[in-house]
Amino acid sequence: MTSGYRGRFAPSPTGPLHAGSLVAALASWLDARAHGGHWLVRIEDVDTPRCVPGADATILAQLAACGLVADEPPQWQSRRAALYQAALDRLVAADQAYPCACSRKDIEDALAAQGRPRVRGHEAPYPGTCRGGLHGRPARAWRLRVPDGVVHWTDRRLGPQQQDVARGVGDFVLRRADGLWAYQLAVVVDDADQGITHVVRGEDLADNTPRQIVLQRALGLPTPAYLHTPLVLADDGEKLSKQNGAQPLDVTTPLAALGAAAAVLGLPAQAATIAASLAAWVRQWPFLQSRRD
Ligand code: GLU
Repeated sequence: MTSGYRGRFAPSPTGPLHAGSLVAALASWLDARAHGGHWLVRIEDVDTPRCVPGADATILAQLAACGLVADEPPQWQSRRAALYQAALDRLVAADQAYPCACSRKDIEDALAAQGRPRVRGHEAPYPGTCRGGLHGRPARAWRLRVPDGVVHWTDRRLGPQQQDVARGVGDFVLRRADGLWAYQLAVVVDDADQGITHVVRGEDLADNTPRQIVLQRALGLPTPAYLHTPLVLADDGEKLSKQNGAQPLDVTTPLAALGAAAAVLGLPAQAATIAASLAAWVRQWPFLQSRRD
């Protein structure tokens, strides 16, 4: 069966896969298979200080133990800097990106001066200080000039979504003050370069989607279909992560791990083997309807 569908799993190699990340991996694999499409793996190692040496190999081995093998060789974002630079250059040439001299403190002070004090736990929207130029201050980061207006999109599980990116987030960072590429730029450039038609990932990333759509539009790139999967919660009610005790996936019992991930996705219990389980889940995959908004 041929299909234009191309999906991906894009783990950050900050540690081994755990029960939560396996849900996103399994969902993206099942969605690709159910659509007769291709499934890719991209190692998102741009945030180098957070990456753990060897975690990429561990993740690939864990996926393989679960029967989830990419249809093309994996890609590493750390080897793709030229693509990110070319995208930034295009945005700068079109005056859609600009250098920013602000430190975190500068941003807080500017917001306070506008009567918008800092709200704990919320990243404050960028107040636009450097939109009109640096006025002699040294450039630190690069930001996207976010156009006014509400971004609407439809998630295949969560339904209609919207965000006013300009008011809620402001001009967001494309290249960080430490010189590293921001996740938003790398993910948008890579999804387009790899021809990704369907993004399936954890719900914790859903609120990044409108920023990615704004960036796709600025770069003249297509917007894939999005499906955000349920999260596995830790005992403290937060998303399961290394910080709140997520255990690395036990590859000695991959069938049990897959069964637990399938249950989060509303799928029935595993069969006798990995192959039989995956085949049954592909047949029962509830998200066959794909929408491109
Ligand atoms: N690298 C991101 C993460 O592991 C996922 C990015 C994505 O799927 O868009 O959280």
